[in-house]
Amino acid sequence: MTVTSEHATLPPELIGTFDEIRRRDPAEPYFHQAVRELLESLAPVLTQRPDLAASRIVERIVEPERQIIFRVPWQDDSGTIHINRGFRVEFNSALGPYKGGLRFHPSVNLDTVKFLGFEQVFKNALTGLNIGGAKGGSDFDPKGRSPSEIMRFCQSFMTELHRHLGEHTDVPAGDIGVGEREIGYLFGQYRRLTNRWEAGVLTGKGLGWGGSPVRKEATGYGNVLFAAEMLRARGEDLDGQQVLVSGSGNVAIYAIEKAQQLGAHVLTCSDSGGYVVDEKGIDLALLQQVKEVERGRLADYAQRRGSSATHVPGGRVWDVPGDVALPSATQNEIDADAARTLVGNGIRAVSEGANMPTTPDAVRVLREAGVAFGPGKAANAGGVATSLLEMRQNATREPWGFEYTEQRLAEIMGDIHSACAATAARYDVPGDYVTGANIAGLERVADAMLAQGLV
Ligand code: GLU
Repeated sequence: MTVTSEHATLPPELIGTFDEIRRRDPAEPYFHQAVRELLESLAPVLTQRPDLAASRIVERIVEPERQIIFRVPWQDDSGTIHINRGFRVEFNSALGPYKGGLRFHPSVNLDTVKFLGFEQVFKNALTGLNIGGAKGGSDFDPKGRSPSEIMRFCQSFMTELHRHLGEHTDVPAGDIGVGEREIGYLFGQYRRLTNRWEAGVLTGKGLGWGGSPVRKEATGYGNVLFAAEMLRARGEDLDGQQVLVSGSGNVAIYAIEKAQQLGAHVLTCSDSGGYVVDEKGIDLALLQQVKEVERGRLADYAQRRGSSATHVPGGRVWDVPGDVALPSATQNEIDADAARTLVGNGIRAVSEGANMPTTPDAVRVLREAGVAFGPGKAANAGGVATSLLEMRQNATREPWGFEYTEQRLAEIMGDIHSACAATAARYDVPGDYVTGANIAGLERVADAMLAQGLV
């Protein structure tokens, strides 16, 4: 084995594991990035837990239990036939049924789905609930498609996927490009194909037919609650802070709502056409009208908002000075340069609403500057945790109220923060949420696997 500078940050005993992954799947840079990020944190636990090395648990955990790739043929409104590719990576089910969202976006490929599935395993473990990890999706681009095209695509996608699902087997939810409307079309097709009212087979359902209150808001709310906990641990709070949010989907919109409820001043949000800076603070009702009702562009928001808002085509919200950053769009949206700009402008906390939005170099810049950094697998776990609450309501056939559900979400986010902080302290890296989250998540999955024999 040749040890290169690329290996410098890895515990020596895991260099071989990392090289083996790259040998097996050389064209999966996102997956390599996610695995490396986990392995880099594991040195302390490997010293204290020789049983993990003896049972080759890390080598087992980085290999998905099952990877499904399938053809999704569908016809557009003009009769033209399209062929997309569908994926479901069922990564780990040691703690419960596979659980994780579906992403419909042209960038989706096996690499994206594997990295997201891998992150999901540890995120789900950190919730303290009994759910395994998976992710799925398709390279289908919903942009500009009519509702009937979206429906036909969802029906074709589910026609293949349904045989792999079940409320005790694998339970998808939404992600980028998949919201309540798509979950509805997917659920309808599942029900027709199976002749079962199996409410717990998908989460993110509409409130009138088995959905949970707070599910739509949960990822954004949870991330703000996590950021607030990080600030509290440093003797601060969100009240009066200037907050930068990227994205303008579910995660971003409900992060903005919760941050405003806690007294913060939210300055920005973005979409693929650029970003908005609103000196008076983002007008949530207008943003929801433009994005959720009209499915429109942020440029419209700026036009209708008047002089307080500026729309900047292209560019990045990270150039705007602020105290707290909540990246809520997509992977690798904060690079090292953006991180240096944030630090230069005095950022105090960064909490990841999206999955892996901060590159490894950017994370290093933030951590070296002493910025409180909440990794996505802890900070954005509120979404999937509320999915589990939805499954609980489906299983008992007893719907909960909004306030009661939000209270459960707040408790779970508090528990996740405590678990990360306590684990970081136990391994002598107090305040290091990355190490805390990675080790706490890994230990829970590893212990379940060890108890279940050679799985
Ligand atoms: N897609 C969300 C995530 O990244 C939610 C997954 C779920 O609820 O199953 O965690």
